[in-house]
Amino acid sequence: MVAPIFNESAGVDRFVDRLTEVLTGAGLDHELVLVDDGSTDDSWDRVAARALLDDRVRGLRLSRNFGKESAVLAGLEHAAGDAVVVIDSDLQHPPGAIPEMVRRWREGAHVVEAVKRNRTGQGVVGRLGGRLFNRAFTGLTQVDLVNATDFRLLGRPALEALLRLPEHSSFFRGTSSWIGFERSTIEVDIEHRGDGRSRWTFRSLFRLAVNGLTSFTSAPLHLVTMVGLAFAAFAVLLGAQTLIRWIGGDSVAGFPTVILLLLVMGTFLLLGLGVIGEYLARIHEEVRGRPRYLVQDRAEPLPPAVVPGQWVGADRGRR
Ligand code: UDP
Ligand code: MG
Repeated sequence: MVAPIFNESAGVDRFVDRLTEVLTGAGLDHELVLVDDGSTDDSWDRVAARALLDDRVRGLRLSRNFGKESAVLAGLEHAAGDAVVVIDSDLQHPPGAIPEMVRRWREGAHVVEAVKRNRTGQGVVGRLGGRLFNRAFTGLTQVDLVNATDFRLLGRPALEALLRLPEHSSFFRGTSSWIGFERSTIEVDIEHRGDGRSRWTFRSLFRLAVNGLTSFTSAPLHLVTMVGLAFAAFAVLLGAQTLIRWIGGDSVAGFPTVILLLLVMGTFLLLGLGVIGEYLARIHEEVRGRPRYLVQDRAEPLPPAVVPGQWVGADRGRR
């Protein structure tokens, strides 16, 4: 299990308790990789404490807030299982669905996605924005994101494939679909967030949307070209008309036309530049090639006490 944690505080214990309850209840041999994404509260202390108590819990502390995507990636790179489940640590993703996901995986699916039956805990604007983005994304990239969540199981081969993608700003929801592999979906009810608000701000969500789009499709760039071409055709028509009028001698009226043209052209020019800028920024980021996250601290379970006469490596195969 891989779970990103950002300022969840008491939620950490609630989450670990619930998850352990479900997993042991289903008799699943598991490991829990908790990635603290630079929390500023006592989340890390709680993670470290849990890791000390329970040798199935491991903690990873990033050196600052790198964002959920990077935290998930860090967890995936450190997870050891034959299959890995990515789950939010705020209990919005129902742990009760995990045994079913594992069953699908044992039946042969390499990727098991949980899709949401409902959308709770979001305002009207968030819901509308989310739907708009998912539709646009699905239409432009052929990667289906409608009702998708980050709650996913990846088998080892799929995980290895995902980790081979080199891009700096990863978009887990998209890349884990892009890799293909035999897939299966289950429907889940997303719970209300137990405490407080979503950790996303409008800005970070907007960034995620732009990152997701620019890393998956260059359609916006082509759109700029298309609109440019449309303008060109329009320019020829309007130019001809103006010329004819000028020759005919009545060319004084038309002030509103000029204003409108200026507004439309100005807007489009700036938007077009913005789109190009986004792609340029991506290229810049990728070229710099900085690490996607930095680890500041780890909380590993204490090594088992050595009993005289017992082979120390005997426990190795368990993970
Ligand atoms: N999260 C994170 N880093 C961030 C923001 C969020 O690791 O910068 C974690 C957070 O602790 C939670 C998960 O990502 O486990 C989803 O965050 P949240 O519930 O705030 O988002 P939402 O459910 O609204 O998508
Ligand atoms: Mg949440």
